[in-house]
Amino acid sequence: MLSSSTLKAIPDPGDDFDIKNGALLSPILRPRVPGTAGSAAVLNHFVSFFKENLPAWNLSFQNSTQKTPISGNGKTPFVNFIATRDPPWTSPGEVGYLTLVAHYDSLIKPEGFIGAIDSAAPCAMMMHVARSLEPALVKKWASMDKAGVKGESYDHYFEEHKGLQIIFLDGEEAFVQWSATDSTYGARALAAEMETSIHPALSTYHNALSSISLFLLLDLLGAPSPNVPSYFKTTHWAYQRLADVATRLASTSKALTSSIDRWFSDADSSEGSYWLGGRIEDDHIPFMARGVDILHMIPSKFPDVWHKITDDGEHLDIPTCKDWAVLVTAFAAEWLDLEGFFDLAKAGMKQKRGPLGRTERTVTSKTEL
Ligand SMILES: [Zn+2]
Repeated sequence: MLSSSTLKAIPDPGDDFDIKNGALLSPILRPRVPGTAGSAAVLNHFVSFFKENLPAWNLSFQNSTQKTPISGNGKTPFVNFIATRDPPWTSPGEVGYLTLVAHYDSLIKPEGFIGAIDSAAPCAMMMHVARSLEPALVKKWASMDKAGVKGESYDHYFEEHKGLQIIFLDGEEAFVQWSATDSTYGARALAAEMETSIHPALSTYHNALSSISLFLLLDLLGAPSPNVPSYFKTTHWAYQRLADVATRLASTSKALTSSIDRWFSDADSSEGSYWLGGRIEDDHIPFMARGVDILHMIPSKFPDVWHKITDDGEHLDIPTCKDWAVLVTAFAAEWLDLEGFFDLAKAGMKQKRGPLGRTERTVTSKTEL
């Protein structure tokens, strides 16, 4: 568990979530229909972000071409982008991942549709998580190396090697009408390919799919005061841990919104109020069908702007977006056992009162892109 001082030291996305010129978010706020120039530009934004800021990450693409109801005799290209960070001494098949997932494609209509909550903002949140955790991961792995607790002896004492995987999926949206075949094009292609990517014999994890310890899907996030129920019985424990992090972010005054500790309506229940997991169709379906554990962060009901032209940058609630980014960072940090590896001195935050009486924070040494 992260201490309060570590929670407070988790970086805030700051100006990088500005919708006009924020380094992380603004380049994603444009139409990005699969196979178009907008899609390629946004994909390029992700790739250059990792190459320039996170050179130790392993980057890969999973490509497919598929027929759609509007592709006629041709096929539409779909490109998934996968960034992974493993402990430096591990080999493929030894690492279990916390896998963060969001789709980067946007709905083809109405014309000019941006899809800010759907899912530009979640993509920016994942970028923030990656860069915020990297220094702590480096520190943790260096200290394990120094203590001689990697490799064989490490295997002996610990259950698994933990890594972080971030997947930007293409082709989630339907082209005409949502159905099993007109939707989740990228996710279906990726899940099938991961299942057949077999790791070397005697690996801890049999294939790329079984390397996913938890598939944390972020979708339709960025509208104010979301309500996210617990959708899956099998991952209710993870849902409760995430909700607990939210409560602690609120109690340490780290959260920017006052509603964050009410986002998770099933937090205090031993059961979800209703297990909807099989009924909300999204990118998790082909993974769930293959036995992957899913934690689905999608509000119920969907935000009002959903699939409307008003789902744009101006309608995002930026403090909510920032709270999501910090919350997922903190949850991932606990998953990866990073307590003690954040640079508390460097976080150097000062607080001031905002015009609405809401506490606002300025990070004085924000990580620059
Ligand atoms: Zn959508």
